[in-house]
Amino acid sequence: MLTVDCDKCIGCGVCEENCPFGSIRVVDGCAVVDDTCTLCGTCVDDCEPEALHIEGAEKQRNIDLDDWSGIWVFAESRHGTIAPVTFELLGIGRTLAEERGVLLSTVLLGQDIERFGEQLIVAGADKVYLADDAALGQYREDVYGRVLEQLIRDEKPEVVLAGATAIGRSVIPQVATVLGAGLTADCTRLAIRKEDGMLLQTRPAFGGNIMATIECPHTRPQMATVRPKVMAPLEPDSSREGEIIQVVLPEQMLDSRVEVLETVISDQEQVNIQEVEVLVAGGRGLESEKGFDLIKELADELGAALAASRAAVDAGWISYPHQVGQTGKTVCPKLYIACGISGAIQHAVGMQSAETVVAINRDKNAPIFDIANFGVVGDLFEIVPVLARKIREARK
Ligand SMILES: Cc1cc2nc3c(=O)[nH]c(=O)nc-3n(C[C@H](O)[C@H](O)[C@H](O)COP(=O)(O)OP(=O)(O)OC[C@H]3O[C@@H](n4cnc5c(N)ncnc54)[C@H](O)[C@@H]3O)c2cc1C
Repeated sequence: MLTVDCDKCIGCGVCEENCPFGSIRVVDGCAVVDDTCTLCGTCVDDCEPEALHIEGAEKQRNIDLDDWSGIWVFAESRHGTIAPVTFELLGIGRTLAEERGVLLSTVLLGQDIERFGEQLIVAGADKVYLADDAALGQYREDVYGRVLEQLIRDEKPEVVLAGATAIGRSVIPQVATVLGAGLTADCTRLAIRKEDGMLLQTRPAFGGNIMATIECPHTRPQMATVRPKVMAPLEPDSSREGEIIQVVLPEQMLDSRVEVLETVISDQEQVNIQEVEVLVAGGRGLESEKGFDLIKELADELGAALAASRAAVDAGWISYPHQVGQTGKTVCPKLYIACGISGAIQHAVGMQSAETVVAINRDKNAPIFDIANFGVVGDLFEIVPVLARKIREARK
């Protein structure tokens, strides 16, 4: 929560002018915040009399950056296995750690997770912090946030990476806020400047029209989330050696205001387009929900899953978990067949690292053909059934 100290506020209006969300006004000489405030902190940084304060958030001042060392990966375990994004983060984490000449550590919170320690070392970690406790068996944001914050304060890593998953997106901003650290969400590329350890965090900006590289020069740790399937995991190496550290947590740290009553795996979650090798994707060119029945025949012949552009999802022809792109999922299948998709940048950022892209579109100038390895210019309603039949015949 953003609080205002009216004894310190001089009513200068700088906060009102600079608030990107129009959430703050000066009334009778003191700033007043409304409920559209997103806690972005712009006003706090701009307030010279220091009258504004985000509760629980710390402002880092003149910290010694040399006190912070090492690359950390926040690992996730779900339904008894390590989430694949953890291995992808260890892949890029290893590159960053070697470039900078520091250790790569990972921290895993959960219950009965001891068996994962070795697996994380084999996947690239030098050190594994395991916080194994019944109270951590279910993800609860307040407890996970508190534990992670304490570990970061104790160990002072210079970089913390996490997956841009439902869990990463909820806990990491909270931790960054209380530490007063910078955070870049949804990075698609990461590099490190060897001399000063500056993490160069690249992500799409302005609706995907430019790629912005963000630095956090004054605060530590430098925190970034990365979408699943953007980075490559390392080949597992069973000869790797590392250290496993059991984290002992004081009981009061595990108190939670959240009670988990039940965990339900929804049908929608079972569509995991990020984990399949072949995707047949449909866009507005399919014209209706029925268009998806057509491309499903092709998908069935190939043992593929269905994906979609946002236009198709927004039209209600297919559900959101199938959406590929900037506001959907990033996929990296061996084969991606785009049917009636124009290839807008916001779609392309989610599928351009597919090994082979085949595009079917009646507009020979559609941008999807700039990405495609194979392009078919024509009416998908004629081409898709022929393609499905040819594949069926070839398989016979
Ligand atoms: C902030 C933001 C985030 C966004 N996030 C995403 C995202 O995550 N994912 C995403 O996909 N989009 C996203 N978009 C929307 C994106 O800009 C495009 O509007 C969208 O991708 C277009 O979808 P489409 O290609 O299916 O439709 P269109 O652009 O309308 O393309 C339809 C294509 O089908 C072809 N076609 C039509 N009929 C036929 C036919 N019979 N046979 C063959 N070809 C045919 C046409 O030639 C055309 O190229 C986002 C936009 C914004 C502003």
